[in-house]
Amino acid sequence: DDDVPWVLGTHLTERCGPLARAPDGNRVLLIEAHGFARRLPYHHHKLTLVFAAMRRFRDRLSDAGYNVIYLKAETFGDALETFFAEHPDATLVTMRSPSYGSERRFRDLVADAGGDLRVCENELFVSTRGAFDEWADGAETFTHEQFYRWMRRESGVLMDGKEPVGGEWNFDDQNREFPPEEWKAPPAPSPEPDVVVEETAAWVESTFDTWGSTEGVRWPVTRDGARDHLEHFLEYRLPAFGPYQDAMRTDDWAMAHSLLSAVINIGLLHPLEVIEAVETAYHDRDAVSLPSAEGCIRQLLGWREFVRHVYRQTMPELASANQLEATASLPDFYWTGETGMNCLAETIGDVYDRGYAHHIQRLMVLANFATLWGVEPRELNEWFHATYVDAYHWVTTPNVVEMGQYAYGVFATKPYVSSANYVDRMSDYCADCRYDSDKTTGEGACPFNALYWDFLARNEAKLRDNHRMGLMYSHVDTKREAGDLEAIREHVVDLRANVDDV
Ligand code: FAD
Ligand code: SF4
Repeated sequence: DDDVPWVLGTHLTERCGPLARAPDGNRVLLIEAHGFARRLPYHHHKLTLVFAAMRRFRDRLSDAGYNVIYLKAETFGDALETFFAEHPDATLVTMRSPSYGSERRFRDLVADAGGDLRVCENELFVSTRGAFDEWADGAETFTHEQFYRWMRRESGVLMDGKEPVGGEWNFDDQNREFPPEEWKAPPAPSPEPDVVVEETAAWVESTFDTWGSTEGVRWPVTRDGARDHLEHFLEYRLPAFGPYQDAMRTDDWAMAHSLLSAVINIGLLHPLEVIEAVETAYHDRDAVSLPSAEGCIRQLLGWREFVRHVYRQTMPELASANQLEATASLPDFYWTGETGMNCLAETIGDVYDRGYAHHIQRLMVLANFATLWGVEPRELNEWFHATYVDAYHWVTTPNVVEMGQYAYGVFATKPYVSSANYVDRMSDYCADCRYDSDKTTGEGACPFNALYWDFLARNEAKLRDNHRMGLMYSHVDTKREAGDLEAIREHVVDLRANVDDV
């Protein structure tokens, strides 16, 4: 066949897309473009994961009888020239990458190499572009909750006829708990030794300028490994997923999270198979409650699909959006971890060690602080993009720029910002911190507090009329009337002047 599936490093499956439809023994192209890995100081584990998974996938396809053409080159352009020089008859067929502009870039590169390319729908999502656009019906802002309910109805997941199973769409009122002291976190899966991972990790370390630990790569690189991770989650952690999904504990980096984003985002697991497995677990396993199953399914069937479409609809503007006009640079301690703020030091340490921190650490510690500090969204986005194993532009950008920093206003209805109060309530970080979470100004006051009030005062013209911010601004008024705002502002000036000692 002249059609040759071109499998990107984030599409590692033969269960859907052009590869699923290729005849036995067909040619298949995979390209390792090393220049891509030099663009940012990516986490060592992320590069290891992607390259090792590609190599493992190559071997699996060869064993299954495909004629695999596996090219290593500095750029995609170089590899495509090599490919078409040897296979002038071929038409490459690939699933559309969700990253903005990649389709045009690939088309140009293939044309420059004198070849043909056909791009088809990306089947690694649950919903299609056409279906979302029809649902959105030209709207300029989107509401996740409505999208999610529509997805539930359309897919029939956790539905009882026309009604949601259990009579409610959302059980978050039962889900925002902090575990009691005696609660023992369920185990996280331990990495299986894998010779390809070891070899790739050593090669990545000696070839690229990476960030993060070069030890202890723990993410599965094969479909079997990814399936084992899923089973481990269903058995051990899904039962506790719901109640504690917002909680943060120093000694429990994984809490009860699924740890599946890294493998879903490169195609080793399809989101729908994870959703179905969670739904089945709810029906078949007594330990899995509806709030846990629904909470997890909402992330995958709702949020993951939603941000993909919102990204598509708002790029390229989203990447440079900055409605709060934030211009500060990212403090160096995001890279070094050297700060006395325990919540940040612990979270950055988690990211350094594994390329992972869970959702609330990302949102309410890392993005919250950066938003209060006034970091330019593009710079924070780049930091997340470099440092996380599951980071790809299509998923990082809406989460960081919009959800984390409220830079666009396309689906976030207010900034997710908070003072130390939230971190204190939902974590055990404050107990071991040199700062006092109850103090706003003066020696030892937690920086989150003064920064929070200063953020609200600084952005008053843009945020005060937002009805969801009414309560917060009534507190700002109280502080203003009491004459506290000036001391808060001075405290923040001081923090900024001494950022390396914070
Ligand atoms: P779980 O908590 O177990 O959730 C289950 C699954 O739901 C995840 O595996 C993921 O596939 C999906 N999911 C949950 N929330 C989201 C969301 N908001 N957007 C998309 N998918 C979601 N997710 C990424 O995949 N890559 C990123 O680069 C990324 N950057 C983020 C940056 C910020 C500032 C924030 C606030 C969130 C970000 N997220 C990102 C979303 C979310 O935090 C991660 O998907 C999740 O923490 C991954 O860990 P897990 O697999 O243990 O997730
Ligand atoms: Fe973070 Fe402040 Fe708590 Fe320290 S006191 S852990 S800086 S919220």
